[in-house]
Amino acid sequence: MTAKLILGTEIREAILEEITAEVKQIKEKHGVVPGLVTILVGENPASISYVTLKIQTGHRVGFKEVQDSQPETISEADLLALIDKYNKDDSINGILVQLPLPKHIDEKKILNAIDPDKDVDGFHPVNVGRLMIGGAEVKFPPCTPAGIQEMIVRAGVETKGAEVVVVGRSNIVGKPIANMMLQKGKGANSTVTIVHTGTKDLASHCKRADILIVAAGVPGLVKPEWIKPGACVIDVGVNRVGEKISEKTGKKIAILRGDVDFDAAKEIAGSITPVPGGVGPMTITMLMKNTLNSLKFKLGLM
Ligand code: NAD
Repeated sequence: MTAKLILGTEIREAILEEITAEVKQIKEKHGVVPGLVTILVGENPASISYVTLKIQTGHRVGFKEVQDSQPETISEADLLALIDKYNKDDSINGILVQLPLPKHIDEKKILNAIDPDKDVDGFHPVNVGRLMIGGAEVKFPPCTPAGIQEMIVRAGVETKGAEVVVVGRSNIVGKPIANMMLQKGKGANSTVTIVHTGTKDLASHCKRADILIVAAGVPGLVKPEWIKPGACVIDVGVNRVGEKISEKTGKKIAILRGDVDFDAAKEIAGSITPVPGGVGPMTITMLMKNTLNSLKFKLGLM
């Protein structure tokens, strides 16, 4: 059997088109568009390329995009004052601080200073709490887990009563996606197990999974014999395992591998995400959705 591929690249296009149409409608009816500010401190090349992609995507869907670049030397107090300025700015619905921050700045203090109603990354403790309560309390599910759930739903995979096994317990992927899949609602209502570095027999748990979500950051951790025939496999891992020359640009690019042995796993799974082109493109897409929703909450449309 060859698994159906769940492609983030395709799902992204569909969602961005939906967002663009909604932004246009809101602009016509209410005269406003979602505003997203991205605060970049310093000149880390990876951060610059993430921020550039976020801004390009924001422009594509019709947002007001503000890029606020600050020097590496900015003080914690000045950065807190900047966040306070955007918290009070009525034209801004989402505030994003690109991580990592320089060592002299307390990341937690900065993230916790963002108004929870503009925290489109969903990392503020208030939004973590809202996610835990579930239902109508949820405002901004964190972007990567939200993308994973969206992929499962759009691939038509039954989640109600499904055995979901999540490999990894990080605050940005493992814990939130596990929490989302156990809620009573659409695309969830599953029986969830979280496995991690303290788990005794990883294989036995993975073998039970109707939906296996792997976010460990260990290339090829999940072996094909751990996969239940027909299961849906979501590989969140992005691991650099070498470099190659790009056929398109002639430049050196990273060779990326997931946490699952993809070539063998696709012969057993019912559906599977590739790396790259699977979960990766979903994170920025869901950031756009959260920013649009932030404006919709403000306008009473949600
Ligand atoms: P993390 O390092 O914070 O957490 C990894 C988790 O996996 C830990 O909880 C750990 O207990 C568990 N783990 C590690 N090795 C294990 C093992 N051998 N057996 C069982 N459990 C093990 O990582 P993270 O931030 O959650 O990211 C995980 C992976 O997902 C990384 O490869 C990261 O690059 C990728 N990621 C991708 C996206 C995206 O595509 N948009 C977003 C976030 C993270």
